[in-house]
Parts: sequence; C-alpha cells; structure tokens
Amino acid sequence: MSMTELTVAESSLAHSPLNISPPTAMSLDWSRRPAAVNVYEWLQTPEVITELVANASPKAAVSLSNLPEVVAFARITKGNANIGRAVRDLSITVSRSEFFWNPAGHAAYPSSIQSVLRMTHEVTDLTLLLPWTTPTHIFFLVRFPNLSFFKTNLPHEKIKPFVSAHNDVLSVLVLDSCQSDGDCPLAGIALDCLTQLECDVHCASSLMHNNVTHLQIANNSPQFSVPVLFRQLMAPFHDLYNLTLDFYPADIDILRAISLVAPRLRKLKLVEKPIHVGRRISIRRPFNDHVSWYRDLRKLPLLEELALRTTA
Ligand SMILES: [Zn+2]
Repeated sequence: MSMTELTVAESSLAHSPLNISPPTAMSLDWSRRPAAVNVYEWLQTPEVITELVANASPKAAVSLSNLPEVVAFARITKGNANIGRAVRDLSITVSRSEFFWNPAGHAAYPSSIQSVLRMTHEVTDLTLLLPWTTPTHIFFLVRFPNLSFFKTNLPHEKIKPFVSAHNDVLSVLVLDSCQSDGDCPLAGIALDCLTQLECDVHCASSLMHNNVTHLQIANNSPQFSVPVLFRQLMAPFHDLYNLTLDFYPADIDILRAISLVAPRLRKLKLVEKPIHVGRRISIRRPFNDHVSWYRDLRKLPLLEELALRTTA
C-alpha cells in the first residue's frame, strides 16, 4: 500500500476518539464523513467548515487530543474569532504516528498548530505534547500576554524563542528532557516571574531563579548527581519551600546538599532511583546512616513534611 492510498478508515484514526464522540468545542457529526475520504480533505470542504463554525460554542478549556481535532479547531477559530478568544486553558496532544504515513496530515500539521496558537491569544495555561520533530516556526508571531503556565515535551532548543518571548509572564514551567548535549538552551533567559519549576536535573541549575518556591527535579541520567549539581549553585534559595527530587543510593550527602541550597524548606519529597549500569554501586544509602541523616535533618528547621520513596 502506498502512502497516498491510505484513507481514514485504514489509518489509526479509525480508532481515534473522533469515531466515538465529537471533540471539545465541536459538535459536528463526524460519522457522516465518507469512509473513503481523507479526513484532512474532508475538513477543507466549505459545507463542513460552515457546519463546524455554526455548531461551535465558546469554551474556556479546550483539549485537542489528535491532529484532526487541531485542524478542525483551526478552521473554527478562523471562522469565528470569539471561539478562540474565549479559550484560557489550551491543551494540544499530537503523536508523530498520526501523520507519519499520511502526507495530508503531515502537510496540515505545522500551519494548523500555528493557527490555533495565534487565534487563542488570551490563553493563560498552555500544554503542548507534540512530536520532537515539530518545527520551531509554529511559535512564529505567537504571543500570549497573560500566559502563566506552560507545559511541554518539546526539546528546549525549539521552545527557546517562545519561552524568551514570555519570560515576563510565565510563573509555572513544566518541562521534559532537554535533548541537548551541551548546556541547556534556556540558560540565560531571565525568568523573573517563575515560581514553580519542573525539569530534568540537566537543566535545573540553568533555570533556577530566586523566586522559585516549588521545584521538582527528575534525574534519569546516572551521570548527573544532584548533590554535585547543588554545589555548583551560587547561593541558597531562601524562598524555596517545596522540593521534590530524584536521587540515587550513592548520593549519601543528598540531605546535606539540600539543607545548604534550601535552608527554609517546608515540604520535601525524595524519590530513590534504581542504580544504573556503569554507576558505582554503594552499599550505603543516605537514610541508612542514622547519625548523618538526623544531623542533616536538623539543618532544615522549618521542615514540616518529609516523604521518602525507596526502591526497595
Ligand atoms: Zn534544557
């Protein structure tokens, strides 16, 4: 079967939610779509667009969970700007497999994402879970004056212009892995409003700012040690009061490092990760040394909650 022969019925879209219920903010009867017609071509026909626009109602929270929903919503917001203006919480999820075998979907992808982002400029909470191959230009001329929350799995190099353009409003940043071998591309961006940060240990020192109160650091890279990372920081973070941290059994001075970096911590959650191949195996674990554990805990005098999840 060639790529051009693929139809909606033959693709994975046949099993998508489109065949079960209408997507958010759209009430088109998707079941009327001719089975042999590609969904992206179907969404370009004038009568379908007219019906989409006529049946849409403004909603503050919009979740688009596949590419046809994104394409349809792009058409709706172009037909009725009030639909886009009403959106405050926008979530878009597209998997690469959706358009990998479908040229029409591949062609529609970047422009449709960009169009939705441009037409929803009152958004305050934005979640983008997209293929890593997504081009940076989806963010071209996209500006959310009130953006507070941004969550994405995109590589940090690709989101750098977008984060830079919103550094004066973003207060919550939830990031996946960096996908950069060198320094984090987001280093140097003045995120002065940032109060809550979730990121990989690779990027933490670059993104930490004095105003951060909630910090969650994932560490899936055995070559990174959180205590070593903390020792590279210039000064303690006195406003940091809620910290969630991955650590390895060999990080025996984890608590001491935390007390030096966040002496006013109130809530601490430590998650032990399994030892990886190639990392020195230690029979010592931080919490097994009761004397040191007790001594270091006393260096966190404001601590109210401590949660510890071990591997065994
Ligand atoms: Zn990064």
